[in-house]
Amino acid sequence: MNWTEIEESYESGVYSKRGISIVKGQGATLEDADGRVYIDCVGGQGTTNIGHSHPRWVKAIQNQAEILVNCPEMFSNEQRALYIQELLSAAPQSMNRVFFSNSGTEAMEAAIKFARAFTKRTQVIAAKRGFHGRTMGALSATWNKKYRDPFLPLVPDFSHISFNAIIDLENIHSQTAAVILEIIQGEGGVYPIDGEYLKAVRSKCDQHGVLLIIDEVQTGFGRTGKLFALDHFPVEADILCVAKSIAGGLPMGATLLHEKLGKFETGIHGSTFGGNPLVCAAARETLKILSEEQLIQNAELMGSYFMEELRKIKSPLIRELRGMGLMIGIELKQKVAPTIRKLADHGVLVLPAGLTVLRFLPPLVINKEQIQLVIAALEEVLVEE
Ligand SMILES: *Cc1c(COP(=O)(O)O)cnc(C)c1O
Repeated sequence: MNWTEIEESYESGVYSKRGISIVKGQGATLEDADGRVYIDCVGGQGTTNIGHSHPRWVKAIQNQAEILVNCPEMFSNEQRALYIQELLSAAPQSMNRVFFSNSGTEAMEAAIKFARAFTKRTQVIAAKRGFHGRTMGALSATWNKKYRDPFLPLVPDFSHISFNAIIDLENIHSQTAAVILEIIQGEGGVYPIDGEYLKAVRSKCDQHGVLLIIDEVQTGFGRTGKLFALDHFPVEADILCVAKSIAGGLPMGATLLHEKLGKFETGIHGSTFGGNPLVCAAARETLKILSEEQLIQNAELMGSYFMEELRKIKSPLIRELRGMGLMIGIELKQKVAPTIRKLADHGVLVLPAGLTVLRFLPPLVINKEQIQLVIAALEEVLVEE
């Protein structure tokens, strides 16, 4: 049996497999078991903004692994303390506390619990097409029926409003604990938020004492051309959730808290692995690499270049191009699964976002030559039919 057959035979079955075994990654490329090199626009589902196996990041992990890997939060640790300072000083100014976990869904779970604890209310409003994770709380905020329906009943008191529809904000009222939004809906199809809408949400939340939870699990750490996608807008979050690229590819999540929330009661939440020194050291190096190697500017530059080149592709199959920085979606007039397979045959790995959107989340180290290879592959597969 090859690796794919073993996994298909003995894993739970929840993942669809592409039949490609990846053995190695470097920068914005991946290599399979046959030695074939791909341009990686999956980017570990958006977890590898600094590129695969960045030498400085590898060194930081090696060093820390020799010193200390696990250190429960009952003890303090230098790497954690320094990372807290560095993260909070890079984050929007009003964020002054943080809770560490190990994934995006956990960052959301903490946000929901903190919002309920702070407001003493239970009603949570999220957006249609939104994706926030797959544990029961985060899944209750997620919209897609395919993920939700097998697990009903979910957490009570969650509802969904139309994204970017100011009229729907009437649903926010004095019983609402929190509103949860992405700045660009990722899984839902790469739909950027409208600035006026975001402002309207903020003022509606202020009017009724509702917390605004922004899910930047996918958009954070330079993806959109700013450290956080929220930095594009003059709007504050009350709770900001990050994960994916926070530690350059190691599992980590963080829930950042606005100063107005103050300190929570001891023991109401926690995580065994959360904030361990290994991921904190990796996250510190990730922040440094993003800034010293100007990867956030590169995301903006390469993102515009990518978009310009995409606009030149004349294909009857393209319905719309959307995105910000290096988070790009191409909506097709047909299902994307066959196109994704053909792109892999042409040496380019991409993600779907729903049934009809191709999603590109390449490492932010991607260069023009690599983008040209992606464009050439797209031209081949989108023009041929
Ligand atoms: C990926 C994602 C999550 C869930 O993250 P996991 O680490 O898979 O639990 C939550 N929100 C958004 C916006 C995401 O893109």
